[in-house]
Parts: sequence; structure tokens; C-alpha cells
Amino acid sequence: MTSGPEGSPTPAAAPPVAPPPPRLMGRIWQVGRFELLKLALLALVGAGVGRIFGRPLAGTCVVLFLLLLSNLRHLAILRVWLATPKSVQLPDIGGLWGENYNALLEMQRKNRKNKKKLTLMLAEYQASTAALPDAAVVLGERGQIAWFNQAANTLLGLRAPQDTGLRITYLIRHPAFTEYFVSGDFDREVEAPSPVNRAKQLSLRIIPYGSNQLLLIARDVSELRRLETARRDFVANASHELRTPLTVLRGYLEMMEPEAQHSNALGPWRGPLLEMRNQAARMESLVTDMLKLARLEADSLSMKDTRLDVPRLIQRLVEDTKTLSRGEHRFELHIDPRVMLIGGEAELVSIVTNLLSNAVRYTPAGGVIAVRWEPVPEGARFSVADSGVGIAPEDIPRLTERFYRVDVARSRASGGTGLGLSIVKHALEHYDSRLEIRSELGVGSTFSCRFPPHRVHVETAEAVSQG
Ligand code: ADP
Repeated sequence: MTSGPEGSPTPAAAPPVAPPPPRLMGRIWQVGRFELLKLALLALVGAGVGRIFGRPLAGTCVVLFLLLLSNLRHLAILRVWLATPKSVQLPDIGGLWGENYNALLEMQRKNRKNKKKLTLMLAEYQASTAALPDAAVVLGERGQIAWFNQAANTLLGLRAPQDTGLRITYLIRHPAFTEYFVSGDFDREVEAPSPVNRAKQLSLRIIPYGSNQLLLIARDVSELRRLETARRDFVANASHELRTPLTVLRGYLEMMEPEAQHSNALGPWRGPLLEMRNQAARMESLVTDMLKLARLEADSLSMKDTRLDVPRLIQRLVEDTKTLSRGEHRFELHIDPRVMLIGGEAELVSIVTNLLSNAVRYTPAGGVIAVRWEPVPEGARFSVADSGVGIAPEDIPRLTERFYRVDVARSRASGGTGLGLSIVKHALEHYDSRLEIRSELGVGSTFSCRFPPHRVHVETAEAVSQG
């Protein structure tokens, strides 16, 4: 509430509830007392003039009648002005009517100024949204289109005024968008081709605001996707091209090594030859991992869906890992033989192999590695827990980044490429699953993957025994 100079509330800021009667009466008296005095004086003058003709009462009545007429005229003027302000000019007079007229004109002036300001702001806002390269669409609670900018026409094909009021899902019919809109989970974005030009890839995001209103923002990400594809293709091609020369080099080195063992001339080269062979092997694993990652990224949507005998596959891969461990670790297996997966074998092999080899490489000799495969209420879970070096909390969120290694020297010494967990992450995306990491420095780590129910198949005990 605003206050007047003396702290009393100004009329404009008066609360909606009427102030107590004595104060209101006091104010009315203050404003009207001169008019009342004027009225009394004029009545007296009327009575005086009437007295000259021997009719003082008639004189008073005439004066009061004339005053009533004048008030009626002002009321009529006010009525016409309120209905059509431009058709009549409010008279510039003194007294209470004059004060009222001035207050009304002042209010009108302020309103005009505010309106002008708002119109200008609206025009600026509309101009700025029109200039936006992203499409912006204001939607009602059920997705009915309330307003959209120019880019919504070019990117989404919306037309004014015929599309206003229509539901957005009638116009953007891509299943990914429909599912996104119906789910109500607007924390993420979805991608779909533009309904106008299918070559354009759009990223769509809904932002709820105000009272049940939604703002849809659509961005053209075609260029970004094109660059990503170009980068991926470059990595895949470069890795592929490097493979052949590396195989040749390694072949020659392998041929020369036994020669060096027996020939005195090649004697000084024994050490360098071994080092060259190790480095060539390292380069080969790097190239293989880079190719694997590029492939996983490239066919991000497609995967051969076959029924996989996961218990058997895990057993086989654990046996392979024991060779890497050279008997230095104790393996504990808790594998439910009934649980199978529907998906791609190559992806699953990448996930299991990388997690197992990491457990061996980051667990000192004598450590325990527990491998679990079991059904859970939300599908099935595969986990590898080790009693190894552990990971500091600040490193955990970055482990799946390409080439991120907590200890570079240790990773290299154990034959790591820095791409293992990145491969695991991408392979899990094919299974609509994510990697969960729990770890404590010096105590150990657990890497687990939860597979959703639509990927899991639990067999009956009889089927397992027959198999
Ligand atoms: P690398 O080839 O270096 O092992 P990864 O992508 O497989 O690459 O793993 C990234 C980093 O995560 C590793 O360098 C290591 O620091 C850490 N890491 C992965 N697995 C474990 C584990 N079981 N215990 C401790 N640290 C781990």
C-alpha cells in the first residue's frame, strides 16, 4: 500500500475494503464543505432576491433548481465522455466538478502513457522472438497452440491463424514427440525430423511455466548432427586405415624377435624390438577400441536382437579373465542360470569384458572379484564388485568420458586404452540401460548395469535343466 505525504493512504492506494466510516465521512466533509457553503450562500442569495418580490422561498427554490440543472448537465457530460472520450471535451471549470474532471483527465493521461509503454514492450518482445532462429510455441495445458513465432512456421510448418487452437500433437506427429508430450517428463529433450523438411533434424524441448502453460522450443540441430557424423566417420576411417600398416609392422617385429634371440648381430636390438612390439600391440588395442566405439555410436538405434544365454557367456568371459589375472585374484560367481537377455551379443561381450578386465587391472594381487547376474524387480542386474584401489567421488562422474583416466601411468602399464568405460556406456545405451558406479578409495568398487524388463527373459527351471 502506498502512503500520502503524511503517511495516510492515498485514494489510489486505498485497500479494497472500505475504510472505517468516521474517516470516510471526514474526507467527504473535507472535499464537499466548500460546495455546501456555496450551496447555502446561493440559497441565501436566492432568498434575498425573492424577498424583493415578496417570495423568499420561491427565490431559494429557483436557485436550487438551477443548481440541480447544472449538476444534471455535468452528469450527462460525464456519461457521454465515459462512453466515448473523444466525442466530448470535459469543461475546464472550477469547483468539485472541475476537480473531478481534472482527476479523470490525469487518470486518462496516465493510462495512455502505460498503454503506450506496454504496446512498445509487446512490439519489442514480438520483434525479438520473431528474430529468434529457434521456433517458440506457447501451448495450453492440453497442447493447444496459443501463439508462435516466425521460426515456428519455417521449422514446424505452423500457419497463422488456421493452426492457432489446434493441438500440437496433430501437427508434429513423430512418435518420439508424441511419446515425449504424453509422458509429461519435460526434463529432457527429444529429437525428431522437421515436419516441413525431413532432412532437418530438430531438438524439441517443452518448458512448463505460469499456470499450466507450456513453451515448446524447437532448435535445428542438423548441422550439429552432421558434424558429429563427420567426426565419427573420420575416427572410424582413420582407425580402419591405421589397422593394416600396424598389422604389417607387428608381423615383421614378431618375425625379427626370435632372430634377435639367436643372432649376435641383432643382440643390441633385443630390448628395443620387445618395446616396439609392445607399443605396436598397444596401438592395435587403441585402434580396435576406437573402431568399436565408432561402431557403437554409428548404429545408435539398431542392434541385432537375439536371445542371449547370459549365464554361459559370463562363465566363458570370466574364464578368459582368469588368464589376465594369472591366478592372483579370487573370483566369486553368483549367477542365476534362468536369466537371459534379448539384445546384441557383441554389445554384451564389450560390457562384460571391459568391466571384468578393469576389476582385474585395478585390484592388487590377492583381491576378490565378485560377479553377479540376477533378476531384480525392475529387470535384471549384472555387477562386478572388486576389493581394489577404489575411485575418489570427484572422479566417478567423469569415468565414462573418452580417455579419462584417474591414474594415466597405471592405466597404460596395465594395457588400458582409456576407452573401456566409454564403450560400456555406449553399449548399455543400446540396451536402454545405464552404468552405475559405487566406490570407496582403498576399499573397492562396484560397477552395475540394470537391464529393463523388456530386455530380460527369465526361463523356467525345467527349461534351464533341459538346456
Ligand atoms: P582404462 O583403459 O584406463 O582402464 P576405462 O575407460 O576402462 O579406461 O576406465 C577409466 C578409468 O576408470 C581408469 O583409468 C581407472 O582410473 C578407472 N577405473 C575403471 N575401473 C576401475 C576399477 N574397477 N577400480 C578402480 N578404478 C577403475
